Amino acid sequence: MVAGFLPWQAQFAQHWLQRQASLPHALLIHGLSGTGKREFALGMAHALLCERRAPGSPDFACGECDACRWSAVGNHPDLMHVRPAALAAREGAAIASEEASVDEPNVDESPTSKKKLSEDLRVDQIRALEPWYHRATHRGGLRIVVLYPAEAMNAIAANALLKALEEPSPETLFLLVTDAPDRLLATILSRCQRLTIPMPTEGQSLSWLAQQGLEQGQAGEWLAAAGHAPLRALALSLQQATPCPPWANDLMTGLAKSDPHRGGFAVGGLADELAKSAAIQWLPVFQRLGVDLTLARAGLPVRYYPKLSAVTRQRAQQAPLTHWSSLASWLNSQLPLATHPLNAKLFAHACLQRFCD
Ligand SMILES: [Zn+2]
Repeated sequence: MVAGFLPWQAQFAQHWLQRQASLPHALLIHGLSGTGKREFALGMAHALLCERRAPGSPDFACGECDACRWSAVGNHPDLMHVRPAALAAREGAAIASEEASVDEPNVDESPTSKKKLSEDLRVDQIRALEPWYHRATHRGGLRIVVLYPAEAMNAIAANALLKALEEPSPETLFLLVTDAPDRLLATILSRCQRLTIPMPTEGQSLSWLAQQGLEQGQAGEWLAAAGHAPLRALALSLQQATPCPPWANDLMTGLAKSDPHRGGFAVGGLADELAKSAAIQWLPVFQRLGVDLTLARAGLPVRYYPKLSAVTRQRAQQAPLTHWSSLASWLNSQLPLATHPLNAKLFAHACLQRFCD
């Protein structure tokens, strides 16, 4: 994996690279999900380890020296990637199998075995770094830990990390990446300097998506469906055929035309259909529709599904604003259940029933 800053991060990155001499030993990189926090952390790490770059210059990694080549393939001895094994598998099987073998010595590389990989950052991953902190750095420069997502650490792992943050070994830089700083221990937050990643403009996102091969005419719709986060938009376009799933289109059209006094919309068939896939695939769609209905009722432009704007407005008029805002918060409150559904069918029925009330 070759890391580099995204176009909307260049100026911000230069600002921080020029402050190299006064960098704290831990930075907490946060901001909206899908806008390139991990890319920023890796771009910083690669630039700071590049051996052709003058320390404190605004230059990025040269991409050609030994250090850059090792960084690009995840082999730099002074750079540690710490992330859940399951995430490592999604980012690249070669690196994943090596990390997985630390956790589970007998793991094979078949697709079914990957399902068992941990989604948590485990305490043994944090503890495994301890001897490394105390050795001299291999290249005589910085030693960098890029850890993400920091909220995937449980309390035990977080406490192990805290120990390292409290007694930083010289030349060590921690780059912690998180979507949710509020889910981290206050003691960890207090030892990091916060760094909020800049958001791209609509134009920057669209031109980046076009460079990634997304059809220009559709890029705007994908971007909206992803809450204006370009990396999430790209991921979404690889996962599904259309920005708005056809079932959501049918549901909203049906609801907009239904007469609430005559029994509303029959949810049974769709609930059975949704229950066939993981709730984490479809619940976010309901959440986005819930936000759009709230915005539409308040007379504002919809955020996620502009193509459904007309039916969303029509549906929104069928109930007061408080109804839609409480629906949106109820849908948000269901998210933790989406990864641990007690009964997929019941859960799909409950969500749909609430959505169609
Ligand atoms: Zn280099």
